[in-house]
Amino acid sequence: MRPRDQQLQGIAGKSFDVCVIGGGATGAACSLDAQLRGLRTVMLDAGDFAGATSSAATKIVHGGVRYLEEAIKDVDPKEYHVVVRALHERVRMLNNAPHLTRQLAFVVPSYHWLNAAYLDIGLKIYDWLAGSARIAPSKYVSREETLERMPNLKQEGLIGSVQYADGQFDDARYCLALAQTFSEAGGNALNYARVTEFGRNSAGRLSSVHVTENRAGKQFVVNAKVFINATGPFTDAIRTLATPTVHKRMRLSKGAHILFPRDVFPCKDAMLIPKTDDGRVLFVVPWRGRLLVGTTEQEVTPDEEYFVSREDVDFMLGQLNKYLEHPVKASQIVSGFAGARPLVSAGENESTQKIARDDVIEVDAKSGLISIMGGKWTTHRAMAEDTVAAAQKALGVPVTESPTRSHVLHGGEGFSNDLSEKLTAAFPISKETARHLAAKFGTAAWKVLELTKGGANLGQPILSGSPQIQAEVVYCVREELAATIEDILARRIGVQFYSWRDAIRCAPPVGKLMAQELQWSNDQTQAAVEAYVGKINHYLEKAGLEQETPSGAAGRASAD
Ligand SMILES: Cc1cc2nc3c(=O)[nH]c(=O)nc-3n(C[C@H](O)[C@H](O)[C@H](O)COP(=O)(O)OP(=O)(O)OC[C@H]3O[C@@H](n4cnc5c(N)ncnc54)[C@H](O)[C@@H]3O)c2cc1C
Repeated sequence: MRPRDQQLQGIAGKSFDVCVIGGGATGAACSLDAQLRGLRTVMLDAGDFAGATSSAATKIVHGGVRYLEEAIKDVDPKEYHVVVRALHERVRMLNNAPHLTRQLAFVVPSYHWLNAAYLDIGLKIYDWLAGSARIAPSKYVSREETLERMPNLKQEGLIGSVQYADGQFDDARYCLALAQTFSEAGGNALNYARVTEFGRNSAGRLSSVHVTENRAGKQFVVNAKVFINATGPFTDAIRTLATPTVHKRMRLSKGAHILFPRDVFPCKDAMLIPKTDDGRVLFVVPWRGRLLVGTTEQEVTPDEEYFVSREDVDFMLGQLNKYLEHPVKASQIVSGFAGARPLVSAGENESTQKIARDDVIEVDAKSGLISIMGGKWTTHRAMAEDTVAAAQKALGVPVTESPTRSHVLHGGEGFSNDLSEKLTAAFPISKETARHLAAKFGTAAWKVLELTKGGANLGQPILSGSPQIQAEVVYCVREELAATIEDILARRIGVQFYSWRDAIRCAPPVGKLMAQELQWSNDQTQAAVEAYVGKINHYLEKAGLEQETPSGAAGRASAD
């Protein structure tokens, strides 16, 4: 992406065919689809790209085993449709960004024969629904093999397990790859640019947005022929801004995740706990050197702050420990995150657990606003395909085929699984750094490493012994519109999800590198570091964990 001042120049006061409000999975996908179909498109996000729900997913590319169960129980063709569509999108998502995705085996342990048979049949239906989009067939796994693969699984009463295949992805980086690909296709994208008001033409149709940009401190207007509202949990606020009398349609459900060191449950496969006390499923997934456990379900409102609470921790530990031979403790938690699922409700009395993860496109007859609501990360592309078709109709141009079905995303071009070896052969970097760069940036890792040729220690780790190197900070500021320490440590290089304490230790060196790039004064840098450290300590406190100070002590911000 071009630097911030150039993005601003290309957007403020300018006119576009399509203005997409929101730069999460849905907005980034809509923007890319529209731009590739030849529509001049601008994407605006109030915070960072993927800064809301789109970096708080369980990171599974799936049709949804739980939704299939609901569909069977409810005999609901709509719910089947959601699963089948997602199963087909799953393959496209894996293919379009091979550096950010992988196939993953999910093992469902069983402690009763009837339960094992039920699971086996259900997962055969899952395979069958996937049809040609099937990744690998599900199968029964014996008790011995299950325990070999999951040594810390509770042994008493274990019958065996059923294994099925889905995918795993890096949600924040996938969103950034969509935004980068959009920008490469000629699109204009800006983060920290909040839409605050609509302008209208004489017929009352939306014709412009007022934008407040909070990094350079600018306010400006952007004109467009069509506006797409892709603001996830904030959808109702934008719908109301366009037409104050509309009924609210969104219901939000918070989901929290916690992360542990891998050795608490050594296993290269994921585990699905099929029934929690509140009747849902819990995933236990290997994720970039950690064990990711989630999630919870609790109805929330859009103005709340979403964090992992002590109650979330106790609930997840309680569910997980029922399945472990050696229980895990809260003190072993290294990180966590929470987000709000943007669900489209049929009515106030419907439980958020029961709301299908389907998406709905609404075209407001009065204002012309197109809102894309609900959905899942896995279906982001299909949702965008349909939304842009609606935008073409609104523009009065022919609906053209979406080019995104097999459009390889930024960093995925020319990617192969031996990329990290090629990087170590060409640059004096550790294997861990090479693996980390390949997994986060794909073939754009070459560009990150080019920066190290300029000297100034950019090839050095951010913290002694960490795989993340200083050049990443510079690259993310220059090429990915990173504007805060959190943009870097959370969504771009992943340290915050790996370890809250490592993230605190990384804040001062990252602040210093950003200050050089963005001309921050000493006071600004100190304020940025303090704000970030305060935020992470707040997360630690809310989760019931001890707080941390950014000491000068060398720490380890670790491996992918
Ligand atoms: C706990 C949890 C686990 C999940 N796990 C999975 C999973 O494993 N697999 C899966 O497929 N899906 C999963 N999902 C669902 C998936 O994460 C969401 O469907 C998806 O991220 C929603 O993306 P979005 O772009 O619609 O919303 P968001 O990512 O929330 O993006 C909306 C954006 O709009 C911006 N915005 C708001 N107001 C304005 C304004 N006024 N001006 C400009 N911008 C504005 C916000 O800043 C935000 O960035 C999960 C969701 C949750 C919460």
